[in-house]
Amino acid sequence: MANRDRLIKTLIDLIRIDSPTGEENEIDREVSSRLQTLGFQVRHDAYQNLVAALEGQGEPLMLSAHLDTVEPGRGIRPHLDGDVLRSDGTTILGGDCKAGVAIVLEALTAVVESGSSHVPVEVVFSRAEEGGLNGARNLDFGLISARRGVVFDGEGPVNRVTVSAPAQNVVKAEIIGRASHAGLEPENGISALVIAGHILTRLPLGRIDEETTSNIGYLEGGLKRNIIPERAYLDGEIRSRDQQKLDRYTGSFRSVFSEVAAMYPEARIDLDITNTYRSYRVEPEHPTVAMLARALAEIGLEPMLGGSGGGSDANVFFEHGIAALPVGIGVRSFHTREETALIPEVLQGAEFCERLITAT
Ligand SMILES: [Zn+2]
Repeated sequence: MANRDRLIKTLIDLIRIDSPTGEENEIDREVSSRLQTLGFQVRHDAYQNLVAALEGQGEPLMLSAHLDTVEPGRGIRPHLDGDVLRSDGTTILGGDCKAGVAIVLEALTAVVESGSSHVPVEVVFSRAEEGGLNGARNLDFGLISARRGVVFDGEGPVNRVTVSAPAQNVVKAEIIGRASHAGLEPENGISALVIAGHILTRLPLGRIDEETTSNIGYLEGGLKRNIIPERAYLDGEIRSRDQQKLDRYTGSFRSVFSEVAAMYPEARIDLDITNTYRSYRVEPEHPTVAMLARALAEIGLEPMLGGSGGGSDANVFFEHGIAALPVGIGVRSFHTREETALIPEVLQGAEFCERLITAT
């Protein structure tokens, strides 16, 4: 049986190990050694993602979470306030995704301890999930045989199951105009910032429809007050749960850039639009949904199926033929200093995960 005190201790121990993206070695060592103690064969791929396997009977099941956190995530001081775990307010809590890792570890500990029979388990703890799913995108899928799984990385309670998520295209553009002294010869200059402004006001931005969004989140350019800015750099994204809409709006973005480029024949605009992850959508009858619903029923919960506005490692798993769905890990306010983990929900996550592993 999942144990509340042991789960809290694991969660706090993991939160106390700093692991901002790119600095996952220490948490990896800790988690690897815990998995080895449980009898797992622990391996790492070239990207240093952790892939661990435990033999069992039946169809293999992948359990996944990620090891990195966002910033500010150093020197986190978690404290338990009744049933709520929070930081001291100066950092995130790191419940995203340490609660996911703790849920998996607690469930496995409970199952191994009980000696119950279980399915073959493959644990995948990725690195660099935050800011682009880079760990999963570089994962060596040759190390994984499971074709179904669960990604412990969602907001809310464990019965919140993300059955559809958008694809994302990243939009980067560099604009090169011409520098000139702003007081002496402004007529010789071509302002890259003005060009960027033209582009920004023409792009379809924000919530385009129920399943499509876009944003330019970063603009940089210019040097000094008295120089016509020569360079500007834009960074943004387009997301949609519908691949055709994503393609269509990507086309609209391209047209805006070329229309504005035509207004400034002497400037140069280098536009780069790349897909970072693809969308997925499963129906309520899908076998992975059914598997999750059975385990949830055993702990008295019903699945709440919903769509997400963001991608997760699950998008990449689907692309590689693994039907893995994200579930809630009992955490609220991801990526903020107000982030909290609700212990009863984290414990439900571990109980649910235990049921998944022992279901035959
Ligand atoms: Zn996360």
